[in-house]
Amino acid sequence: MSSCDVPGLMPLADAIKKMQDTLCNVCEVITLPLSSALGYTLSQDIISQQNVPPFNNSAMDGYALHCDDLIDCSVMQPISLIEVGKSFAGAPFEGSIQRGQCIRIMTGAMIPDALNCVVMQEQVTVDGETITFVNAPKLHNNLRFTGEDISVGQTVLSKGHKLTPRDIPLLASLGFSELPVYRQLKVAVMSSGDELRPLGSKLEQGEIYDSNRYSIIGLLSRINVEVIDFGIIKDDYSEIKAALIKADQQADVVITSGGVSVGDADFIKQVLNEIGEIGFWKLAIKPGKPFAFGKLQNSVFFGLPGNPVSAIVTLYQLAVPAMAKMSGEAVKAPLRLNAVCIDTLRKAPGRTDFQRGNYSVNEQGQLIVTTTGNQGSGVFSSMSQSNCFIVLEQDRGNIAKGETVEIEPYSQLMD
Ligand code: AMP
Ligand code: MG
Repeated sequence: MSSCDVPGLMPLADAIKKMQDTLCNVCEVITLPLSSALGYTLSQDIISQQNVPPFNNSAMDGYALHCDDLIDCSVMQPISLIEVGKSFAGAPFEGSIQRGQCIRIMTGAMIPDALNCVVMQEQVTVDGETITFVNAPKLHNNLRFTGEDISVGQTVLSKGHKLTPRDIPLLASLGFSELPVYRQLKVAVMSSGDELRPLGSKLEQGEIYDSNRYSIIGLLSRINVEVIDFGIIKDDYSEIKAALIKADQQADVVITSGGVSVGDADFIKQVLNEIGEIGFWKLAIKPGKPFAFGKLQNSVFFGLPGNPVSAIVTLYQLAVPAMAKMSGEAVKAPLRLNAVCIDTLRKAPGRTDFQRGNYSVNEQGQLIVTTTGNQGSGVFSSMSQSNCFIVLEQDRGNIAKGETVEIEPYSQLMD
């Protein structure tokens, strides 16, 4: 425990570690065609069976020759070689070649072993088969060598890597038509609360629209999981129990929002204690103090707080890395950067704050951040108007203008 830990509140890092230590990959290996594999996680290291490029070739349209033939070449002393054939991409030169000769060559075309450089076509004059040069080229000029990008036996991507649009063409260049990956995690999502109404219905007094399911499902759509939408569940013991049992039968992960704090209508705790093994945590973070994590019969449970900002912050900071582990993905620490805060920020020591801010670079090239204003955990506009979290350490107090703070730019999950 550090000097600033608050009794009864678990530091965020401890909660993340606890989940990472408890959870394991639950997704079986499937084989997918390369064209469908984007966003999936590799279940094996990918070892190249090919050299890329597979043969020595030209990086330019021009003339391939032996550089010793032009060793004394200059503007004052041009040298001419005889063109004896052509090498096109896909149609290599197959004849024999003597010193004093050259071939026409195109970008990507094979260069014969007897030649060792290419001169750009813009630097020569052509008169029938006589090609005249005015410079002495360097050895290996404008050549691309076998395996210079990737060589046979090289590990190109590692097990646990989630495939990006940049990986797919790389794997295509190596000839992989299908890949071993982990299947999608199945995630059931439900909102709980008597006050919640679906979109399209008229709100009566005291009611609000269920917005958390939209933020949760929206964010989940960016991490390539299969979402099972369980809608809105009333604050009713039997209804909650029935929904959780059904979700547990269908999904690897069950995510609820609302009903996990200590209010009289918060039945989730009661139900879960009965049908699963649940830890109710009070986290040393703001927003997002009440959070539940545990195991049901078949699935893992994340109980997010109901306040809309708290729900998305805990989903992003806690549940997403936990689900990455369950999907076989190598979990990476988020990118955090130092920025100069140009506003004053209110902060009480004792919890790590995830305040919402906007970063930019000022005219002096300095990374700066501003606050979105009201940081209430129900003020969702602070999320939509921000581009980063301002991460204020647990032991920190108020921030004065000009202090350096840590920011966490939103990843592509949030953008
Ligand atoms: P609870 O965690 O159930 O005590 O809810 C805390 C606050 O979040 C209350 O103001 C709820 O009305 C609100 N809330 C709970 N669930 C949702 C939801 N799905 N969408 C929007 N607000 C919600
Ligand atoms: Mg509630």
